[in-house]
Amino acid sequence: MYRTHTCGELRLTDKGKTVTLAGWVQTVRSFGSMTFVDLRDRYGITQLVFEGTPEMGREYVIQATGEVLERSSKNPKIPTGDIEIKVTEFNYLNKSVTPPFTIEEKSDGGEDLRAKYRYLDLRRPPLQRALALRHRLAQEVRNYLDGQGFMEIETPYLIKSTPEGARDFVVPSRMNPGQFYALPQSPQTFKQLLMVAGYDRYFQIVRCFRDEDLRADRQPEFTQIDCEMSFVEQEDVLNMFEGMMRTMFHNALGVDIPNPIPRMSWYDAMDRYGSDKPDIRFGMEIHEITGLTRGHGFGVFDGSEYVGAIAVPGASEYTRKQLDELTEWVKRPQVGAKGLVYIKCNTDGTFKSSIDKFYGPEDLGAMAAACEAKAGDLVLVLCGAKRKTQTMLGVLRVEMGGRLGYRDPKVFAPLWIVDFPLLEWSEEDGRFYAMHHPFTAPKPEHEKWFYSDKKEDLERVCANAYDFVLNGTELGGGSIRIHDAAMQSRMFEVLGISKEDADYKFGFIINAFKFGAPPHGGLAFGFDRVCALFGGQETIRDFIAFPKNNQGRDVMIDSPSLIDQVQMDELCLESTVKAG
Ligand code: ASP
Repeated sequence: MYRTHTCGELRLTDKGKTVTLAGWVQTVRSFGSMTFVDLRDRYGITQLVFEGTPEMGREYVIQATGEVLERSSKNPKIPTGDIEIKVTEFNYLNKSVTPPFTIEEKSDGGEDLRAKYRYLDLRRPPLQRALALRHRLAQEVRNYLDGQGFMEIETPYLIKSTPEGARDFVVPSRMNPGQFYALPQSPQTFKQLLMVAGYDRYFQIVRCFRDEDLRADRQPEFTQIDCEMSFVEQEDVLNMFEGMMRTMFHNALGVDIPNPIPRMSWYDAMDRYGSDKPDIRFGMEIHEITGLTRGHGFGVFDGSEYVGAIAVPGASEYTRKQLDELTEWVKRPQVGAKGLVYIKCNTDGTFKSSIDKFYGPEDLGAMAAACEAKAGDLVLVLCGAKRKTQTMLGVLRVEMGGRLGYRDPKVFAPLWIVDFPLLEWSEEDGRFYAMHHPFTAPKPEHEKWFYSDKKEDLERVCANAYDFVLNGTELGGGSIRIHDAAMQSRMFEVLGISKEDADYKFGFIINAFKFGAPPHGGLAFGFDRVCALFGGQETIRDFIAFPKNNQGRDVMIDSPSLIDQVQMDELCLESTVKAG
């Protein structure tokens, strides 16, 4: 037997017992006649006391037997801090070379080094906690959905390339020279086919692959909680998954989220928060003040489709320098504003503004009132095209909320965004794109516009599509689907996909819909991000055992890599990049 207990288990009540532990040596402190060793495993740390100075190095794996003693100087910071083991016998199970960084709560290793030695980094408590939380949440999902009659069904990873959205990862087929599989961006079409097949409650915790440029905190492979249901309306889906989220929060964090979870239309979210994933942990809402600004000879406002503002609480004393800094901040390409107008609502009731020349105190007061600004607040104004300006105000709002400390990761403010537009016009490509994906159905009452040829009509069509948003992050989304072959074909037509192309790429699903497809709908949650937010972290990397870096590389196994010529030949591939 390697061990009688784990390194996180022993307490004062075990005093006097003879125990055997096995684990990794975290720290060694020698005092000549005595050596203290902190022994670690994933359950915790226990202090061992050796006589003399045995050879001991960091990350040695040892087995030690001895008596549990009460410590004279206790360590209240760790659960085993009241005891220590007086070692009478020990074995080296394996020695270790000196690790490249400290393997403790806080490491001295840089990110790249830790990524290269991920298996060592994973020994650290923060990563152990992250993976333990991920495990817990996965179990909660399975328990909840199993309890609701969902079946967990696997769908294939080698599928057909149908890029519509992100780029596909492709896999060459040796047995079918010159042809390629694609890795699924999501199991979307398969879960719909399972509905056609009659499996009316499906779920899967499943890997998805998207070959996107990896903006901050994206992974080329990530995990979804993917779900689909038949004979449901939007309300049924929202209720089911509200229940799942509520259970996950309650069981994993002991947090009770609002019941019911608030809902907001996409249009409201854009108007009030300048975002389709609003952070509602704080107010500071966006207000339109276009009407109040007109006709005062201020050309910048007069020439803008939209003027909007937010009131930043208690910021009226911002200095010239701070305002200049903020102006530079909104001009950064990530925000993209041309400039920033401010109105200081001084505590003595007066106003000071960068547009004093055009607007008197009453006008400024009216604008401030429209934004619900109080004395002591700072009103920040942006102008331009409506949605674009709202989006910029949304970014500014989140930034100011962060600066004011309103974005506490321990506070959870979930909401559903509903009533999305079905389609989104791309000026650049001169065509519509599906806002969610091409399988999303128009709202039945908007079908008349869906079959219209006018762009304005198509722009008006809403979908029964919904996103689950938490603290300014979209954690999931889905929709009620098209289940009629003719309507699905119409959708491809609206998206400018030719009949031939639609048949080539999606013929299988259009065809399946001819065989009695039930009404259905579903959604998927980004599981990595769910874990990160539950864990109070911004980045998903720590919640994935073996993640990739921003270049899509796994620096531990050094992948992707070249393959040898024999493999290339077998796959009928020729590379323009030569090994060397
Ligand atoms: N498959 C969709 C996605 O990955 C989610 C859904 O509509 O169920 O975004």
